[in-house]
Amino acid sequence: MSAATGVADPRAIESLLAFWADAGVDACFEDAPVDRIAERVRPIRAPAAPVHAAQAAAGPDVSGALADARRAAAEAKDLGELAAAIAAFDGCGLKFEGARQAVFARGVPDAPVMVIGEAPGAEEDQQGAPFVGRAGKLLDKMLAAAGLEGRVFITNTVYWRPSGNRTPSPQEQLVCSPFLERAIALVSPRLLLLVGGASAKAMLQRPEGILSLRGRWFDWRSADESLSIPALPTLHPAFLLRQPAAKKKAWADLLTLTERLDRPERPGDAI
Ligand code: URA
Repeated sequence: MSAATGVADPRAIESLLAFWADAGVDACFEDAPVDRIAERVRPIRAPAAPVHAAQAAAGPDVSGALADARRAAAEAKDLGELAAAIAAFDGCGLKFEGARQAVFARGVPDAPVMVIGEAPGAEEDQQGAPFVGRAGKLLDKMLAAAGLEGRVFITNTVYWRPSGNRTPSPQEQLVCSPFLERAIALVSPRLLLLVGGASAKAMLQRPEGILSLRGRWFDWRSADESLSIPALPTLHPAFLLRQPAAKKKAWADLLTLTERLDRPERPGDAI
């Protein structure tokens, strides 16, 4: 709120909402308003059911688009064909919200670590590669400092920039998930680094916020359970740009990751 005008600064509000969303406070982003007073009972805890599937089921039916995505992803024999299949796919509404192009991936095709973010932003939409804006530059710096330069494959849960940089919906993430699973199968990483709450929630199907998930190992499984890979959630670099004091937590997470990657024989690695 500006003392001079009494009017709230929209940039301050945006930044505060983004901070809450990153921290896992996402109830204020529901599609429709909820009158908690009329409800009388205020839900405090998120449901224990798988978030991704449960929330996606509550939204528009995406089963046709999901089946198309599964077919297209399964036909891709390598990452080049997968990139082409994503670009040709019309089943995700994000493609028609004003995105310039599909943004798939960058990095090493047989990397031992796959970094999975949330969604492309403005810079990524322009350049056609993930994590190339300010947050991406911070991510690259941190990965390099942790000895991971040239050892990562970087992608997102969805492949088109959501308008206004909003968080992608569970339906949008679900429809894109066959492409992400195919990418994981083709790259065959040893470990997954899940960057930010929207990525961690979608990949792990858990209701907790990122501040509770980060730094803990989970077992990511593909929808058909044929793949199982250790996954570590961490804080999003966009959050770290707004909250530099949180960098030490993200750094600790990266060290947890490299410890497991480079010294897998050490005890304490069991999930
Ligand atoms: N944030 C993400 O989650 N992914 C990107 O590619 C860029 C910013």
